[in-house]
Amino acid sequence: MPIASRVNIVPLDFDDDELLGNMSSSISQAFQIPTRIVPMDIRLDMGRNRQRDQLNSTWVLSQLLSQSLNNSDKILGITVHDLYTPILTYLFGEAELGGRAAVVSTYRFRDELYGLPANKDNLEKRIEKEAVHELGHTFGLVHCLNFDCVMHASTYIEEFDYKTNSFCPLCVSLLDERTNT
Ligand SMILES: [Zn+2]
Ligand SMILES: [Zn+2]
Repeated sequence: MPIASRVNIVPLDFDDDELLGNMSSSISQAFQIPTRIVPMDIRLDMGRNRQRDQLNSTWVLSQLLSQSLNNSDKILGITVHDLYTPILTYLFGEAELGGRAAVVSTYRFRDELYGLPANKDNLEKRIEKEAVHELGHTFGLVHCLNFDCVMHASTYIEEFDYKTNSFCPLCVSLLDERTNT
């Protein structure tokens, strides 16, 4: 697998610049590669299911790939819209395993959705973990059994809050193998 030279972060109906900046630094730190914010002209209404009021995440991945020419860059879309696939009711994010593209959504990370007061800090921590997790998949990492590890599969918000935003030693060594060969 070629060494990724950069992670391009693509805001898709997402305008919180402060959150984008913090997420960029987290990603850059986790993978030791540069990041940049790259706006793309993707017509989200084409991938939207009006009945479900959700965005098809697999469609988003295909759009990100079709607009990104540099084969060594990873591409991460971030959106406020709720994501789904035809077989999954909802997703926090989706990625191509060992590929280039990933997408994450803040929709399910908002405390308001669970009847709690809005908490930007919680939202930011969760989306950063999810972004690192999905990008980890693009580097070929699979789910990790270690509860602390960012590659642990999280179904519930509580599990997101428990895990850290970094890789466990096993995942670090797998990541090194994949980025240094
Ligand atoms: Zn995963
Ligand atoms: Zn791990």
